[in-house]
Parts: sequence; C-alpha cells; structure tokens
Amino acid sequence: MTIPSIDDSIFVQRFARQPSIVSILPVKMTISGLIFDIQRFSVHDGPGIRTTVFLKGCSLRCFWCHNPEGLRMTPEVQFLPNRCLTCGECVVACGHDGQHLDEDGRSFERQHCVACGSCVEACVAEALTLAGKRMTAEAVVAEVMRDRVFYETSGGGVTLSGGEPALQPEFSAAILAQSKAEGLHTAIETCGQVPWASLEALLAVTDLVMMDLKQVDTEKHHAATGAGNERILANARQLALTRKPLVFRTPVVPGVNDTAAEIGAIAAFVRELVSLRAISSNGNGPADISWELLPFHRLAADKYRSLGLEYRARDLNPPPKDQMAVLTEAALASGVAVRAN
Ligand code: SF4
Ligand code: SF4
Repeated sequence: MTIPSIDDSIFVQRFARQPSIVSILPVKMTISGLIFDIQRFSVHDGPGIRTTVFLKGCSLRCFWCHNPEGLRMTPEVQFLPNRCLTCGECVVACGHDGQHLDEDGRSFERQHCVACGSCVEACVAEALTLAGKRMTAEAVVAEVMRDRVFYETSGGGVTLSGGEPALQPEFSAAILAQSKAEGLHTAIETCGQVPWASLEALLAVTDLVMMDLKQVDTEKHHAATGAGNERILANARQLALTRKPLVFRTPVVPGVNDTAAEIGAIAAFVRELVSLRAISSNGNGPADISWELLPFHRLAADKYRSLGLEYRARDLNPPPKDQMAVLTEAALASGVAVRAN
C-alpha cells in the first residue's frame, strides 16, 4: 500500500474551513482526541525527564517519517507476522472478513478492516495492535502525572508530539493547560504545516516549541514532504516574534538537505529568525532560539511493514558521523547556535 495522501486528513479539511480557533480557550478536560502512544521517560523531547504523548494525524508526508502510525487521523491495525502463533483467534473475532488463516497461510486483508479492534483484543501474542486510541484530556493527564516525581527532580514535564499536535488544538490545549496547572513544564513538537491560529492557540499553555525546518527551497520541500514550505516559514517567523523559547530541528536526510549548501541555507533562515526576535524584543533578553541537526535513521522500517505501507526511505543510508561533522561546521559558520545529535 502506498503512503496515505495528505488529503486523507479530515482535520486538514476541517481547519481549512475554520480560520480562527483562538477563542477555544479556556479548555474542557472532557474533550477527547486520538493518540497512538504515550512514552514515559523520554529524554530527547525537551528538558529533563518527560512523558511524550503522540497524537494521530499529520499534515505532511515526509517520505522518511519515523512515525508512520501517526500519519492518518484514524485508528489502524498493525500486524507483526513474526509474533503470530497462527492460533486463528483473530479470524473468529473478526466480523468483517479481515483476518484469514487457511491452507494458503495467514493473511490480513486490510481493505476489509474497519479498525474495530476485536482481533487485537483476541490476540494473546500481541501480533496485532491498534494504533489510535480515543482518550479524554483528563485521562491523558492522569497518565502523565504517574511520573510526577521524575519531573520534579529533573525539571521535566510533558511533550505533545505526533503526528501533529496542532491538528487537534482543543484536545492539545486541554492537556497542556491541565499539565501547567499541575506545575509541569510543557512542550510541543510541530511540523509547522498548520494554520497559525492553531499554533497560536497552544502558545499560552506551552513553555517550549520545537519545530522542524527541513528545506528552505519550497519545491524541494514539496518533493520530500508532499507540501511546499510557505506556511511553515511564515509560522516560524510568527513564532520568532513571540517570546516563546524555540528549538528548530532539521532531520538530515540524504538527497533532501545533506549538503553544506542546503544546511547553510537553513542556517541563514534561522539567523533571520534570531534577528526578528531581537527586533521584536528591542534587544532585551536572550534570543532563546536554538537549532539541532538530527541524522536520519532507518529504525521505522518494521513499522511500515506492520501497517502494510511502502517504506520509501528503505534504500537510504544514515549520514555518517564525518558528514554530520562537516554539516555541523557549515551550520556553525553561519553564527547560529547549533547542536548535532
Ligand atoms: S490471534 Fe494473533 S497469534 Fe492468533 S492467528 Fe491472529 S494474529 Fe496470529
Ligand atoms: S480491527 Fe476489526 S475489522 Fe479489522 S481485522 Fe480486526 S476484527 Fe477485523
């Protein structure tokens, strides 16, 4: 199966009709949203020890995406054949002709699946899992607060990631607002391809914004992610005009942005953002803008297989350390504070 198109996202269509959502706040904790994971003890998604909540649905289709289970705004079944015991319980449980076990072997007919989850419940081997679960904001925060003691000792908190958290802004705002009320540090990771109003609605309850910058050339950006970058660059400029601490992140992907010239062009844009912030704050206070280079990796290959999706980055090799060092040098030469991971 090919990667679902961006147009599959019902939320993108919904927000195309909804230009301003800033009035949503104050928030309702009973509001629910669709998540696909809650990861405890994260140390790469903001300061300290954190819990990262992954929301379903994304407005880009980066061909190397590490979280393909977050692309669609609907639940979907993941099947791991190497765990299957061929017990047939899922076949019995499915009322939609989705699961098969016969003399030809074991198969999952995804085209029949309505993601009801009956087969997942029946599978004791955990060969079937459901990516996409509806939860209230209240339930998410209750889960996050299990690790309160670690946040207190490390200066950590909660990070909303995805997918794209700003595609479910009411739900995200409710989680962030309640987390802040509990005294937690709050952060979001965004791809930036959302209406400014959706991001703006989250800023009042977000302590740190982490945002991807993949390419400054819009045609190359479109080829790599399925969308041009005009909205992303405009949102980055808007963010620079706030006082919010910002971390920009560039996944270094072969053929997309792995040359000194391309990293230099992104560096020039980050420099512009630092200047914008200096102007907007009359030079008072720190810029609080940093930039990270993250090497592409291929760890998501099994996830694509489990979702029946084509993995278009399967032939790419991660950039070697010496190449990352050269690119980091190119970035540093621009005078921007940059960190390579
Ligand atoms: S229930 Fe699980 S282990 Fe049994 S046949 Fe289905 S997928 Fe395999
Ligand atoms: S999720 Fe429901 S419809 Fe889909 S294969 Fe499993 S039981 Fe059948």
